[in-house]
Amino acid sequence: MTMIRDPRQGPPFVANVRPSGSSVETRCGAATPGPCRRWEQADHPYTGRTAVLATKHGKLPIIAPPLEGAVGLRVEAVAVDTDSLGTFTGDIPRSGPPLDTAIAKARLGMSAAGRCLGLASEGSIHPDPAVPFILVDNEIIVLVDDDNGIVVWESHSSWDIVAAATSVGAEVDLEPFLAAARFPDHQLIVRPNSGPVHPIYKGISCIEKLTAAVAECASVAADGLARVETDLRAHTCPSRRAVIAGAAERLARRIASRCPACGAPGWGRVDILLGVPCAWCGTEVARPRAEIDGCPACAHRATRSVVSPEVRADPGECPYCNP
Ligand SMILES: [Zn+2]
Ligand SMILES: [Zn+2]
Repeated sequence: MTMIRDPRQGPPFVANVRPSGSSVETRCGAATPGPCRRWEQADHPYTGRTAVLATKHGKLPIIAPPLEGAVGLRVEAVAVDTDSLGTFTGDIPRSGPPLDTAIAKARLGMSAAGRCLGLASEGSIHPDPAVPFILVDNEIIVLVDDDNGIVVWESHSSWDIVAAATSVGAEVDLEPFLAAARFPDHQLIVRPNSGPVHPIYKGISCIEKLTAAVAECASVAADGLARVETDLRAHTCPSRRAVIAGAAERLARRIASRCPACGAPGWGRVDILLGVPCAWCGTEVARPRAEIDGCPACAHRATRSVVSPEVRADPGECPYCNP
């Protein structure tokens, strides 16, 4: 079962919602917010255009089809060393929020390919703040349009991510761990558990290589153990690929959705309004009451109620009735 977090539960996993309330960003001097004539066309502005996808890990087959299908945007991959922005394996630490990293990745690809339209995705896997013993994979995907000075992004989260890890000696039976890690469909990384950071073996998908890597890494580790963990790179982790695909589908729908005021692509939720009255005392409880849709190119906003006016919150959630 794929458990997708209820997008109405609020930040931080809500697509296109930031604590600041403004998540569809204009980060390029090419355009200033305000209705823009170039969007005023019947055909979708990205139909027949080409965006370059910065990827080192084979994301093209999962990201291109929904975008092509939704608006006829062609996607080409460009192999840039996105690892310079940080890696899942931790040998290069990430700096900055995932959205900023994704935008930086897209721009790396755009400058490598000499294009003004770029795509990139960025994932983070961590304990779910709401359910700390469950890991959640949050995948962000961005479209950067430097012709028009807009950035459109979406995200998708799932608990159905395989991210197993163990520390073992060379003689330990790995079978139970390998079953939980869904090996070899999900490939593995092996490194010393403590002491030297090398050797590090990535993308292991056969038992012979795994056994040899564990023996070598355990033999050089200060504590005699090898660290074995899921290789979370997109091409070695099918459960992560599924979450990236979900994010790409959301981005495709969002790009297909155009601003009712100026026609720009990327109309969708940018904020959530909290505040549903408690059934007993009327105090506003921090539950979503409405969503605010916004445009990446102009200042137009529209509010949509997500609960009917007569709905009241459970007093159990009320800070006054249930302090
Ligand atoms: Zn109350
Ligand atoms: Zn607009």
